[in-house]
Amino acid sequence: MTERKRVIIIGAGHNGLVCAAYLARAGREVLVLEAAGRVGGAAITREFAPGFRVSACAHLSYLLDATISRELQLATHGLKFARTDLRTVALAAAGEHLVLNGALLEAGQVPPADHAALRDYRTQMLRFARVLGKQHNRRPPRIAGGGRADLLGAALLALDIRRLGRDSMREFMRIAAINIFDVLDETFESPLLKGALALDGVLGAQLGPRSNNSVLALLHRLSGEASGVPGGVSLPEGGMGAVSDALAAAARSSGASLRTGATVTRITLDGERVSGVELEGGERLSAGTVISNADPSRTLLGLLGAQHLETGFVHRVRHFRAKGMAAKLHLALEGLPAFARLPAALAGERLLIAPDPAYIERAFDHAKYGRCSSEPALEITLPSVHDHTLAPAGRHVLSAIVQYAPYDVRASSEAARAAFLETTLSLLERYAPGLRQQVVASELLLPIDIEREFRITGGHWHHGELSIDQFLMLRPVPGAAQYAMPVNGLYLCGAGCHPGGGVMGSAGRNAAQAVLAAEQPT
Ligand SMILES: Cc1cc2nc3c(=O)[nH]c(=O)nc-3n(C[C@H](O)[C@H](O)[C@H](O)COP(=O)(O)OP(=O)(O)OC[C@H]3O[C@@H](n4cnc5c(N)ncnc54)[C@H](O)[C@@H]3O)c2cc1C
Repeated sequence: MTERKRVIIIGAGHNGLVCAAYLARAGREVLVLEAAGRVGGAAITREFAPGFRVSACAHLSYLLDATISRELQLATHGLKFARTDLRTVALAAAGEHLVLNGALLEAGQVPPADHAALRDYRTQMLRFARVLGKQHNRRPPRIAGGGRADLLGAALLALDIRRLGRDSMREFMRIAAINIFDVLDETFESPLLKGALALDGVLGAQLGPRSNNSVLALLHRLSGEASGVPGGVSLPEGGMGAVSDALAAAARSSGASLRTGATVTRITLDGERVSGVELEGGERLSAGTVISNADPSRTLLGLLGAQHLETGFVHRVRHFRAKGMAAKLHLALEGLPAFARLPAALAGERLLIAPDPAYIERAFDHAKYGRCSSEPALEITLPSVHDHTLAPAGRHVLSAIVQYAPYDVRASSEAARAAFLETTLSLLERYAPGLRQQVVASELLLPIDIEREFRITGGHWHHGELSIDQFLMLRPVPGAAQYAMPVNGLYLCGAGCHPGGGVMGSAGRNAAQAVLAAEQPT
């Protein structure tokens, strides 16, 4: 094996693991260096109180790529699902909840017209999302100066949009340019239904329902086919860490070496080309190719250094928008919480607190000015209902995304964390009276905590906003959307690249293909 063919991957997030597996299968000598004590990055399961385990960042699987699952044989490597195709329950404090099963309203009252509108809306959104889904495993085409592959990529993208047909294509363009608040207002009457649908357009993003890009964010969220169901949502058995463990097993079985507790402090250069990395403690490792699963800013400005990059490029990387807005709540509970008038059989579904789009917009207002919401919107799961590996018998784990908590919160993070935990518990208590008394232990992670624990600059869900200016061939920044960075031999493979965040694996697969393609004679 020549040194040129040796590959170092910085970070064993799920994308780093996917990338490692594909490159090892292609015969490369692959070494993955992970700073944390375990693999998985933001897709891990960890114990947060004695006997209680939780998916510590990502908690639901809806984007995991089916091609990757099949090619890397994740089922053979141990991946199972405790539950597929979860329903969504739009919680109402007084108990008139809506139960949604895809396009079907299974329980709850809405004006009659909303039933048909929901079917049409879901069908259309899934068609639009499919256009994005088709781009997941493709390298974004270069806008200018590309070759044949770029022309073909651009043609395929145009064709996917054309295939929608004239009317749908117009509608796609129209709604992509407005916001989810207006789209839902045009379509439905029920505020509760609109609230539940709006939340998917803002989760994890620095957006309110009235923000531009909220339709794009929604379509991105719907663009997967977890466990074969378009837009479906699943729970891996053993939590999201089980996805990463299966990917690590696939990478190892293909010959990749994984080293945890290995923090890269510097990417080293030999002239204009990468030569390897330096670790905390001074150890140096050489490789002809270095691929970073860390976010773009950490990789390019931190590990490589702005001095090795052209000024205009550095400017673009510095302005990559990546400030997190979502907090994560974990509760260890001594019993199953009783949500007002919600049958216990539905407690294990995906529960939302988002009573209407204006509520979510108001919750965002606080965060715009550096404060956590006084009445946040929540996506709640109780995975232990389906998965007994997560909590002692009869006890439960609650995992919730709490939107909104800004990265640069004005108060000290200790004060903000304590106050936001209190706010969130009080809100939950309104929907599930008595829940407070069931809490054995709690943990709330603000974006600043996510940055520290998971080494994601800004603590952002996608390593950076998913907005039209940071999408496809503009992600992370123009001139670096094809995974190769402006320094020879250096690549990115994480959520900061196309097609963005969520536990999907496509960025890792695409980056591996870019590395292999670069070795082909032109
Ligand atoms: C609060 C929250 C909730 C979310 N919920 C969901 C959800 O329900 N479903 C979903 O699909 N997605 C969800 N996401 C998004 C998802 O978790 C991420 O987009 C995804 O995990 C990113 O994967 P990645 O492999 O690209 O990067 P990461 O998982 O961030 O992995 C990067 C790895 O690089 C390592 N690293 C960084 N710097 C160094 C260094 N110098 N040396 C060595 N190693 C280094 C890190 O430790 C980390 O392991 C959520 C995200 C957040 C923040």
